[in-house]
Amino acid sequence: MRVLLVRPPLFQVNFSLGIFPLGLYSQFMTRYPPLGMMYLASLLRRDGHEVAFIDAESENLESESVIARMRPFAPELLVGNLNVYNSYRNIIDMITIKNAFDAPLIVRGHFPSAYADETMSHPEIDYALTGKGFTSLAQLVRRIATGREPNDVGGVRFRRQNQVIDTGPEAPLADMDDLPFPARDLVDNRLYTTNLTYRRPFTTMFASLGCPFDCAYCQDRVVPFTTRSAPNVLAEIEECVQRYGIREITFLDPTFTIKRQWVLDICRGIVERRLDISYTIRTRPDLLDDEMLAQLAASGCVRISIGIETGDPELMTKLLRKITSDQIKRAIELIRRHRIMAFGYFMVGIPGESHRSWQNTLDFVRELPLDFAQFLLTIPTLHSKIWEYNTKLLDKDIWREIHYGRYPTPDEFRCRETELTLPEIDRWTNRLYRTFYLDSARWRSWLRMKFLTGYVRRQFEIAGTIVTQTILRFIRQRFPTFLLLRYPFARNGGPGSPRR
Ligand code: SF4
Repeated sequence: MRVLLVRPPLFQVNFSLGIFPLGLYSQFMTRYPPLGMMYLASLLRRDGHEVAFIDAESENLESESVIARMRPFAPELLVGNLNVYNSYRNIIDMITIKNAFDAPLIVRGHFPSAYADETMSHPEIDYALTGKGFTSLAQLVRRIATGREPNDVGGVRFRRQNQVIDTGPEAPLADMDDLPFPARDLVDNRLYTTNLTYRRPFTTMFASLGCPFDCAYCQDRVVPFTTRSAPNVLAEIEECVQRYGIREITFLDPTFTIKRQWVLDICRGIVERRLDISYTIRTRPDLLDDEMLAQLAASGCVRISIGIETGDPELMTKLLRKITSDQIKRAIELIRRHRIMAFGYFMVGIPGESHRSWQNTLDFVRELPLDFAQFLLTIPTLHSKIWEYNTKLLDKDIWREIHYGRYPTPDEFRCRETELTLPEIDRWTNRLYRTFYLDSARWRSWLRMKFLTGYVRRQFEIAGTIVTQTILRFIRQRFPTFLLLRYPFARNGGPGSPRR
């Protein structure tokens, strides 16, 4: 079959607080490749289908442009991605594309996985994948191609007359090495970047999935921890370098360094194969040691991101982090000793936060020898413990609300049970940013950065984008009808209107 996969256009929701350009900087300047969709494209090709892919989000395309570009391909089947932030608009775009091609529509992504009933409430959606699709999609497409019902394919919702049939959970993938490498040839790898990318082309990769820890604000805890084999990971890195000329990789693994020997094998393999690559990882401070950091640095690791979240020991315990301030400090010093950049994530507006805990965080930020830091409003991420708690407290699920076209304000989105109001959180966030980034020691540390020129070049690009975005925002505020939102809000009975 001719299958078209689409990452629909983006409607950006800004949850950032603090100094505006910094919020913009961190949130609008990162364009990751659609890794999950690229895996699905490879799986379908392995099954003999002809596959096309459009990343409308990164290419900034309207659904009409997607339709115009794909007319010659004339897809017989559509697969669209729905994310939780944009589900409503994603669905409208996918329905517009479906209507143009008159082809069955499968949707997948975080939204249908969590809210399959809401997804199927749109009569135009024919099938929803309730898992990742690694084992279900190819089987489903085989059934569609042969005109059979997918009633025995786990992880699918489909229609039988007026009924929606649930086939139960998706069968687990027996071995992650069975997955083909993502179809990077179907996208323009030059499109992707982050605000801190030094070298391009850039891509992302998963060497493992899930996390065995149980932090209260995190959704990765619900995915069982599994790794690919080190040779399999190395083969994909090699393909990235040799076939696509990729020079920088961000590993999206939530906690890259859980299996020490596995990490060392990957590092050794990169060095032995002489792969000219820089990469960044995320991990916990208690999962790093001197030897591992030496190997990471030698194999091209340029930045390690660590979730610090707060400088208040009491809040750290509440968040179930199971790490101490001393462990964090030691890990950051060790990272920097190996000339790897250290990036710290902090959360603002944590449940239970008070003026005293803020002061503790501010003092801690001053003490830490980090190179970069980000202070993000705590939002109740889907499937996190905070989300479960918040949903009960508010008696409504904010992610489901988005599906009905109602975008919560940051104040609705923030976690309850903090003595700080949103304006106070905003003021504190500004103060944290100022304290961190106006410190001259920080600027001196940047000068020792590897690939400094690439980094500086990227910052100039970003400055240009920020100026453009700020002008556009000003125009929108002054002349609200000049650049209207591209999407209509839900109208009862209109295309894409969910049935409640
Ligand atoms: S925050 Fe990090 S360590 Fe904690 S559960 Fe999530 S991925 Fe694991």
